[in-house]
Amino acid sequence: MHYSNFGLANTKTLLKRALQNGYAVPAFNFYNMETLDAILTAARITQSPIILAVSEAALEYMSGDILMGMIRGAKYEPGQIALHLDHGHSFEICKYAANIGFSSVMFDGSTLPLEQNISESRKIADYVHKFDISLETELGVLSGIEDENTKSETHSYTNPDIVKSFVKQTQTDSLAVAIGTSHGAYKRKSEKESLRFDILKQIADNIPKVPLVLHGASNIPQKYIKQINKFGGNIKNARGISPSQIRRAISLHITKVNVETDSRLAFTAAIRKTLSTNPSVFNPRDYLSNAKDEMVKNCIDEIQNIMGSGYKF
Ligand SMILES: [Zn+2]
Repeated sequence: MHYSNFGLANTKTLLKRALQNGYAVPAFNFYNMETLDAILTAARITQSPIILAVSEAALEYMSGDILMGMIRGAKYEPGQIALHLDHGHSFEICKYAANIGFSSVMFDGSTLPLEQNISESRKIADYVHKFDISLETELGVLSGIEDENTKSETHSYTNPDIVKSFVKQTQTDSLAVAIGTSHGAYKRKSEKESLRFDILKQIADNIPKVPLVLHGASNIPQKYIKQINKFGGNIKNARGISPSQIRRAISLHITKVNVETDSRLAFTAAIRKTLSTNPSVFNPRDYLSNAKDEMVKNCIDEIQNIMGSGYKF
């Protein structure tokens, strides 16, 4: 079914508005009813446009049927929410997502040879554009682990000299860039490491009308790391990107910021605390509703203090 039947918007529309007005639309990942509800609740409270991001692994976990059933039943502002495939690795998965009702897909050909990244991206653009579905592609490689489908030990920055021809040849609607962020909870050796704003500025100068996307941009709130470790967890040396650096990236044409790890940490920290401080609890609704509430708080915090996307309906 086409996404317009669900009241969804494509990301091209949301990101164009963001680029014109100097804010970023957050892309929050979800993988079950509670995380979907958390994101939509934060969107409603802050009146922010939102991109609901689903990785290939999360799509498999929920199944397309259950996922689209939840979207059908969810309450949200029509035209302000996009449903986006995060890190699609093949034409087939992008086509599948497009056909079941996604309004946007990412094809991640970043680890392929350049010519193959271009030809695959273009093939997917030609398919999804027939249905007014948006395409995000990636140039440059981010290190780290997003989930079982997206991990890399290598890293290479996006080459600003080729972004213009890449966008032209692929017909992509937005471009994910590698400027020093990485996937997962271990992004930084020290607080002092800076993103490569020089590279970002060159990219933005070369393709000023193309919305740029920052992956691996969680800030890893230390209060959640402490809470997880206090109540039986064991996460060491987790460090993210500081909000000030992400805000600076947004001032240089980043218009979509992907956040997944922070939500995972908020959710897990709340579950650990609830179960540890209430040892007799065994009703999943008790700890899942606390987890959802904590994720809502974190999403609102990121919308208001980093993205600048609140009150944009
Ligand atoms: Zn990513």
